[in-house]
Amino acid sequence: MDLIDAHKITQTRPEPRPGTLYIVGTPIGNLGDLSPRAKSLLNKVSLIACEDTRRSGQLLKIIESKVPLISYHKHNLKSRISEILEILDKNGSIALISDAGLPGINDPGEELVRSARLNNHEVICIPGPCAATTALVISGLPSERFCFEGFLPKKQSIRKERLKEISEERRTIVIYESPHKIQKLLEDLSILCGKERPIQIARELTKRYEESIGETIEQAIEYFNKNKPKGEFTIVLGGNNKKKEKITESEALSKLNKLIKQGEKSNFAARKVAEETGYTKKWLYSKLHKKLDK
Ligand code: SAM
Repeated sequence: MDLIDAHKITQTRPEPRPGTLYIVGTPIGNLGDLSPRAKSLLNKVSLIACEDTRRSGQLLKIIESKVPLISYHKHNLKSRISEILEILDKNGSIALISDAGLPGINDPGEELVRSARLNNHEVICIPGPCAATTALVISGLPSERFCFEGFLPKKQSIRKERLKEISEERRTIVIYESPHKIQKLLEDLSILCGKERPIQIARELTKRYEESIGETIEQAIEYFNKNKPKGEFTIVLGGNNKKKEKITESEALSKLNKLIKQGEKSNFAARKVAEETGYTKKWLYSKLHKKLDK
């Protein structure tokens, strides 16, 4: 880098700015990942909002910050947002941190950011580690296009639907999962995606026992049959790369009719044929109904 470039990237406005909400990334395991900028800001803002004051109190102790903490979590969002806005209105500066990683990524943040923006306050991110992108970039799976699923829904019917969508997704998919549910998730993925689908599971990223588990769903299942899942996991699943069959419209429709004759529901049959052939479910469905109308 030449001197002019180096000069350019160090041109920063003084922080914290009054009336500004800062979204601050904190380490996901390794304390060394707290950036100097985050450390400096967490020593200077008027107030820090965090998920768990005891947990974040430990971090502040390490960085010798005396800034007061208030809790901000999914159970007190509404009342806290108005308190925080009041401070911003009075030109105070607030930092939002979560227990680990980037606030707003499967952690509280989104609602506060929206409210701050709606009330014309500046929102600035001090970037930091995020388990999803950290796992993605070490997975070796395509990262040019990817999507983030976070945790799967708890309700069985919605979870089933989401898993189906995941199995059809063509981009790489990043999923968060707790250790006691990971084996069940792998079994479900094996049925829907096939046991050969590429996967990389990042365990304990940035920590002492960090490791990657993969390469296929089958291998990951075998690994957990021998090793009890412990720690934190981020799953990176390869997208669905099955080539679509090239068939004519009438062949696609006869496939559809065959499935229905075999007892499949028309909705399911249309989706399956759409998946296999590239004709849209809507088109297949419309043809089906035209035929039924006659
Ligand atoms: N906001 C966080 C972020 O930016 O990554 C994510 C918070 S979410 C509540 C916690 C989940 O993230 C964990 O259950 C796990 O799936 C994933 N995670 C967090 N830290 C991790 C780590 N060190 N290694 C692997 N996965 C991790």
